[in-house]
Amino acid sequence: MTILDGKKVKEEKLNELKEQIKKLNEKLGLVVIQIGEDPASKVYVSQKEKMAKNLNFKFQHIKLPEDVEEEKVLQIIDDLNNDDSIDGILVQMPMPKHLNAKKIQNRIHPNKDVDGLTDINMGRLAHNVDTLVPCTPMGIIHLLEYYKIDISGKNVVIVGRSDLVGKPLASLMTNYNATVTLCHSKTKNLNEFTTNADILIAAVGVPKLIKKDDVKENSVIIDVGINRMKDNTLCGDVDFENIKDKVSFITPVPGGVGQMTVCELGYNTYKAHLLRK
Ligand code: NAP
Repeated sequence: MTILDGKKVKEEKLNELKEQIKKLNEKLGLVVIQIGEDPASKVYVSQKEKMAKNLNFKFQHIKLPEDVEEEKVLQIIDDLNNDDSIDGILVQMPMPKHLNAKKIQNRIHPNKDVDGLTDINMGRLAHNVDTLVPCTPMGIIHLLEYYKIDISGKNVVIVGRSDLVGKPLASLMTNYNATVTLCHSKTKNLNEFTTNADILIAAVGVPKLIKKDDVKENSVIIDVGINRMKDNTLCGDVDFENIKDKVSFITPVPGGVGQMTVCELGYNTYKAHLLRK
C-alpha cells in the first residue's frame, strides 16, 4: 500500500509554480471574501493566505459581518471584477443562509472565478472546454497523475454529488476517460457500487462511512472528507486504519486531498492571470 502524500506533492508543485510566476515579473492578486465567523472557514482562509504569501501574491482578505446585505456583497464583487490588479476572487463557503450563494458566486467574472463554481465555468467543464476548474477535483487528478495512476478506462465511483466536489469531479473524470458512477444519499445498496470501484472517491462528510467491506482489493481510495471530531482531531469519510492494508493507494486525512486543494488555488490564480492577459 502507498500513501498518497498530498503535502509532499503540494510542496513540489508550489515550488514549480513559484518559478513560473517569477518569470511573469508581475504580482498576482487574490481576494478571499469571508462572510460571518464559521470556525472551519477561518482555518481554510488562513491556509489560503499562507499559500498566497508563499507565492508572493497580493492577498486581500475581506471580512464581512454575518448579517451583511446581499447588495453590499454584490457591489464588492463588481468592484473587484473591475480592478485590474486582481486576478482571482473567491467567496468562502458556507455563506449565511439569508444570502443567495448561487447568485453571489455567479457575480464573479468567469475569468476571475478561481473556485470554478460559476455556472459558466461548470458548463465549460461539462463540455470539456479548458477553463478554471474547482480546486478539489483538479487536485485529485493531479495527485493521481503524480503517482502515475491511470484514470482512462477505470471504474471511478464518487460518493457525494455536491457542486463543490462530486459533480465537477464526475465531469472531470469523464473528460479523463473514466467510467464514472456518482452516488449520493438516495443511492440504494451503495456497497454494490463502491466494491466495483477501481478508484473510489468519498466526498460525503460522514466520518468513516466507507468501511473495509465497501472497497475492492488493490483499489485506489481518495478521501475528501474533513470531519472535525469531538476531541478536535480530523477524520476522513474512510475508515483509513482498517482499509489501508487491503488497497493499493490511499490518501490520509489530514495530509491528502486538502493539501492539494490549496495548491490548486495557487494554480488557478496563475491561470486566471494568463486568461485575462
Ligand atoms: P455536501 O455538500 O454536504 O455533500 C455531501 C454529499 O454526500 C451529498 O451529495 C449527499 O447526498 C451525500 N451523502 C450524504 N450522506 C450520504 C450517505 N450516507 N451515503 C451516500 N451519500 C451521502 O459536502 P461537500 O461540500 O462535498 O463536502 C464533503 C466532505 O468533504 C466534507 O467532509 C467536507 O468538509 C469535505 N471537503 C473537503 C475538501 C478538501 O479540500 N479536502 C474540500 C471540500 C469539502 P445528497 O446530495 O443526496 O444529499
